[in-house]
This record gives sequence, C-alpha cells and structure tokens, in this order.
Amino acid sequence: MEEFDVVVAGGGPGGSTVAALVALQGHRVLVLEKEVFPRYQIGESLLPSTVHGVCRLLGVADELANAGFPVKRGGTFRWGARPEPWTFSFAVSPRITGSTSFAYQVERSRFDEILLNNAKRKGAVVREGCTVTGVLEAEGRVTGVHYTDPGGDRHEVSAKFVIDASGNKSRLYSTVGGTRNYSEFFRSLALFGYFSGGKRLPAPYSGNILSVAFDSGWFWYIPLSDTLTSVGAVVRREDAEKIQGDQEKALNALIAECPMISDYLSGAQRITAGKYGEIRVRKDYSYHQTVFWRPGMILVGDAACFVDPVFSSGVHLATYSGLLAARSINSVLAGDVDEKTALTEFEARYRREYGVFYEFLTSFYQMNVNEESYFWQAKKVTNNQHTEIESFVDLVGGVSSGEAALTPSDRILERSAEFAEAVDRMAGADDGSMVPLYKSHVIRQAMQEGGQVQMTAALGEDAEPETPLFPGGLVTSPDGMKWLPHHPA
Ligand code: FAD
Repeated sequence: MEEFDVVVAGGGPGGSTVAALVALQGHRVLVLEKEVFPRYQIGESLLPSTVHGVCRLLGVADELANAGFPVKRGGTFRWGARPEPWTFSFAVSPRITGSTSFAYQVERSRFDEILLNNAKRKGAVVREGCTVTGVLEAEGRVTGVHYTDPGGDRHEVSAKFVIDASGNKSRLYSTVGGTRNYSEFFRSLALFGYFSGGKRLPAPYSGNILSVAFDSGWFWYIPLSDTLTSVGAVVRREDAEKIQGDQEKALNALIAECPMISDYLSGAQRITAGKYGEIRVRKDYSYHQTVFWRPGMILVGDAACFVDPVFSSGVHLATYSGLLAARSINSVLAGDVDEKTALTEFEARYRREYGVFYEFLTSFYQMNVNEESYFWQAKKVTNNQHTEIESFVDLVGGVSSGEAALTPSDRILERSAEFAEAVDRMAGADDGSMVPLYKSHVIRQAMQEGGQVQMTAALGEDAEPETPLFPGGLVTSPDGMKWLPHHPA
C-alpha cells in the first residue's frame, strides 16, 4: 500500500490550500480530485484575506495578480431601507487605498486550477479523475482512504491524516461523527446563469459585486471580465418545483421582477453554450457539521460548513480552514504539539469564524423587512427562531459573541440595527469614509481574523506577536505555518 503523511480528498480551494502548506514543510502529500481541471464551480467573489493572506502564504499572490481577474474593491448593495444603492468598500477611506484593500472576482475554473497547480509545484502529488470512495480505519483512528482511478481500478493509500475537502457533496464527512445540521433561516434556493454584455457599475467600482434585494429574494451580479457576468437569484426553497419546470423562463421572470438587474442586463445576451451555457440550481447549501475532526481525519471547507452566498464568505472559510488544518498537521508532524491540542485549536478557530459570519449574515438579512414578501418574512429574526440561533450559539461555544444578558435573537436584532444605522450614516456622509461601518460590531468581527492572517502573510517575523484567540489557546508561528504554545511576556 502507498503511504503518505497526508491524503486530501478534493482539489478545490480548501484542499489545495492545506496540501500546499503541508507539502511546503517537506511532508508527503497526496491530493485525489474527482474531476479533471479546469472544472466549473460556483463561488466567484473573493474577500481580501484569501487574496492577500492565504494566497500570499501559499506563494501564489503574484500569479493571481497577473491573471487579469477583475479587481473587486468591495460590494455595492441595493439592500435595506435606503432606496439608493450603497457601497461597502474594503478601503476604510477613499484617501487610504491600501495595497491590500481589494479582492478579485474569479472564474473558479481558472482560480482553482492556479491553486491546484501551485500545490503540485510545492511538492504535493496530485491525481485528477480519482474519486475517494471511503476511509480506512484502525483502532478508532482514520488511517487512509480507498479510491477509484480514471480507469475504474480501486486503490488504497495509508496516511497519518486524511483531509475531507470534497465540498458540499462530500461522501466522507460523516465519518468524523456528529450530524450535519441544515439551517432553516438560510434555507433558500439559488438559480444562476451567465450573460455577455451586461452593464458595469461606474468606476472605480466597476469590479464590485452588486447585490440587489427584491420582493422574491435577492440577486448577485458579478463581473467576471469586461463582458462576462455571473447572475444568480436567491429565492424561496418552496419555489423549487416551479423552477425545475422551465429554468430559463423562471430566471427571466425573476429578472423582470427586479428593475435594477433588468436594467443592467437590458443589452445583454444569456450565454447558452460551453461551461457557462447551463442555468444551474443549488439548494440545501447552508449547514454545519457538529464535529469537525476525529483522530486522523479533518473536515475543511464546504465538507464542514457553509453559511450563505451573500457577502462572499465561502472561499474565505474554505481557504482559512485549510490554513488552520495545515498549521495543526505541521505542528503535530514536527512533534511540537499533540494532535488533540492542535486540532482543538483548529476547531475552535474555525467555529469562531463560521459563527462570526453566521451572525453577520443573519443581521444583514434582517435589514430587509418587507411585510408583503414571503422570502423576507422568513428572513426576519423573530423570537420563534430561538431554537436554531441558540443551537448555533451552543455550537460556537459562545465564542463569537459575548453578552450573556441578551438572548441570541435579541443580540442579532441589536447588531442588525447597529449595522443598518452605520450603513445609513456611511451612505449619508459625503466623504466616502467607511469608518461608521468598520465600527459596527459585525464588520469588526468579520474582519478580525482575516486581518490577522493578512498581517502574518505580509510581515512574517516582523509581525506583532499574536495573543491567543481563546484563553489557554495556541498562537501562530511567525511564518504562519504552525502553532506555538503561548508564553506571556
Ligand atoms: P469545492 O470548491 O466544492 O471543491 C471540492 C472538490 O472536491 C471539487 O473539485 C470536487 O470535484 C472534489 N470532490 C468531490 N467529491 C470527491 C471525491 N469523492 N473524491 C475526490 N474529489 C472529490 N463563495 C464565495 O467565496 N463567494 C461567492 O460569491 C460564493 N457564491 C456562492 C453561491 C452559491 C449559490 C453557493 C451554493 C455557494 C457560493 N459560494 C461562494 C461558496 C463556494 O462555492 C464554496 O464555499 C467553495 O467552493 C468551497 O470550497 P471547497 O474547497 O470546500 O469545495
């Protein structure tokens, strides 16, 4: 049987990140990817911490910069009480356009291939067209996987660690134990296609994602090149049957319902051939596994959890969890930290980040209150949603938020009101400053860890020493690749 230190199932952003960062430390890594790249994937709008944090640690930031992806300075929203669109910019002030205050909009076929090729260059063995079919176990530990190769032959490989990074269709995730809890609050359906010739937002925000709320839900409008646009509607799950019938008609009807998107697409043609020629549907995408690891096996990216398409957190959570998993494995294989301590740190940080985005996105949805709309009524945080919100707070162990005096739904209502007020102040001021938004609780939390990862990637040894994220927790090594015990000065 072949032997590796780490076997990764899935070569998406989560899998490629962990593979490259472990291979960089000289360990033997095998990536098994079901498809042959380049392959289609949804999730095209990135956040700065992926581009300037994780991708810099991966050594791929310059290649990304030269790939010609549209520069995303932030998000423009027709969302909430204001009738006019407002813009959330990654640069806190228009006067401080820092070199890391942007992300990219990416065709995932190209982005994911860049990351997978990078993993190969960093020393990982990558086998495409290979489907992992299950795990090997011995004495309570996961010890490897079995897979089928492109010819249909079955193989077994052993590994000290197995990473499940095989996305939301993972067949392996349940072997870590626990359950996959689906969210009622974010339970929606996405219907999406691609257009040629759509309008662009005025400069300098022509590369922004545009998100537009309307009666039946909301649209994303993502510029993937000067002419190519990804357009998707997020609507009620109950509309599934209607949509399955004639997807083209359903998408056109939704576009016609939303004046801003109709206007942006008025001179555009839907692409009907090639990888962008299909209208696609996704549902049941919002869930979390109640357990993220067991001895010998770790869940990364969508195999573990995903919140919602709004605000582009999916690739961030996938690459961030890949980074956390790599730090843990590198520390254990180097003999610096025991497995339980390293993976407890992995799980606590990953849950915290998931929790931060869960709370932010719940508050964000809360801004649209439309008494007439079934979609927006279901996205209103009410006291009836205690069960879901409380079980989520239990899951993150209360780490994403503090005040014990408030019930979870009261806290979300309070955070949402604070955020809506910050949007109002920001959009009402004429200096373009993002300071009110960056002062709001949900944005501060959502930017905190990503900012720390960017700092480590940019400054390395020169970065300020980190303090543990949790009492008694570990800190990141100066090169960002491992965990270290914390010794207070
Ligand atoms: P994936 O990207 O799914 O990669 C998993 C890989 O594993 C695939 O290549 C697959 O072929 C492979 N695989 C599967 N099974 C096996 C197997 N058995 N053996 C071997 N290989 C296997 N995120 C954003 O950041 N921005 C967005 O704008 C955004 N929009 C979204 C819109 C919608 C409607 C949805 C549903 C999601 C969106 N996301 C977005 C989320 C994003 O798509 C995911 O979070 C992200 O792709 C997760 O990366 P991953 O590496 O975990 O998994």
